[in-house]
Parts: sequence; C-alpha cells; structure tokens
Amino acid sequence: MGMATPAPGIPRRSAVPSRTEATVDAAGAIWHPSPNFGPRRDGLTPSLVVIHYTAMEGAASALERLCDPVAEVSAHYLIGQDGTLWQMVRETDRAWHAGAGEWHGQGDINSRSVGIELDNRGDHPFAEAQIAALERLLPQILSRWGIAPQGVIGHSDMAPGRKFDPGPRFDWQRLERQNLAGGRAFSGAPGGVSTDEFVRLACDAGFTSDVDEDTLLAAVRLRYRPWGQGALCSEDVDVLRAATLNN
Ligand SMILES: [Zn+2]
Repeated sequence: MGMATPAPGIPRRSAVPSRTEATVDAAGAIWHPSPNFGPRRDGLTPSLVVIHYTAMEGAASALERLCDPVAEVSAHYLIGQDGTLWQMVRETDRAWHAGAGEWHGQGDINSRSVGIELDNRGDHPFAEAQIAALERLLPQILSRWGIAPQGVIGHSDMAPGRKFDPGPRFDWQRLERQNLAGGRAFSGAPGGVSTDEFVRLACDAGFTSDVDEDTLLAAVRLRYRPWGQGALCSEDVDVLRAATLNN
C-alpha cells in the first residue's frame, strides 16, 4: 500500500480493517450487500465469469434492483460508468444473474460462475473508466479461482436467443489481447462453409444450448464478430476453429 507517514497532528489510519475492507473480495470494491443469493450447489466453485449489461438507466437503479428481495436477481459485482465497483454477493456464494442456459454442456451457471454487471443501457458504448475497472477486477477473480481466460463469457453465450448482453458494443478483443478472455485467430483454413460444421464447431467452443441455427449464428457473432451480417460465411466458421483450438 505504501502509506506515507502522516503529518503531525493527523491521526494515523486505524490498523483495524473497516467493515468494507473485511467483507469484499475485490480490491477497492464498495460492499453493498444483496439478499438475493444462496449456497453454490453440489460443492461447485467458480469456473466461469459471466459478463452482463444492466439494461437500466443508471447504476443507482441497477443497484436497487439487484438488491431488491422482490426482484430475486443479483450479481457479485456492478461496475458504474465512472469505474465505481460495488460488490453485492460474496464470490463464495451463488448470485442470481445467469438464469436458464448452458455452456460446454453444463447447466446451473449460477453455481459455476461469478457474475459482473456493467452499468449500460445496451444502446450506447461502454465508458473507458468502466472497462478499465473491469480489467482490474477480472485478473483478481481469475487468479483467485484458477479460471482460464476461456472461462470469461457473455450472458448471450450461455443463453443464446434469450439474452443479448453484453451486446455488440462490448470489446471482447480488448480483453482477449490481455488474456482476460479466450482468444481468436483467423485460421484461414481452406474449404467451403457447411452449416453442420458450423454447428459442430460452435458446440466444441461451448455453445451447446439447444437453439436453431440462426439463433446460434447470432450468438456466435455477438461474441466474435458483431459486425457480421447475412448468411453464414467462412469467417463465422474460422473464428470458431480458432476458438476451439484455444479451449
Ligand atoms: Zn445478463
């Protein structure tokens, strides 16, 4: 921490940790407890991190909803647009953010993950201070639980067609460059585009939810190439080939 010696007359900071410092898991987080959590089931510990946007007007209303017992939703963390970090549920506990869905054939994502909400309505870019805070938080979670970068996923990855967050404006490649999400590379493998192969590669990459091909294509593009449009093309398959190699 490297605290300077206080000037004469100014009391030294207490050596006893405050309630906040003692309770939160992440450095700099503000403890804002939610009643909406339970124990992780079957002795599971986090092997995934699920990224969301709140789709709400601001951090204050999101915080209220995520801590409202009637709403029955929560997340471990909320990051404001100015980079403020709130922790609502201990990482050892099961927060209620993921809902129905699966990843790599495994359900009960809430028991397997740490959930991070980003204050964003869903129709505008993410703030730099907010993404910088996410980049400070993710390494702590990954190292605490031994989670590989490939374990950082979007809500839309595990619930294709039902959920669309963190959405096309979320810069996955920025996280990938820092090894904070599973990487990609354009393999340039020769060959045509087969829907069967696309579905198989998507399944190998983790997209195992039982959805139709168009919904699957939309979810894969949200993660890997949100600029992609129209019918299935070779780039859709190429990003998955690379993603599968990296898993
Ligand atoms: Zn979500």
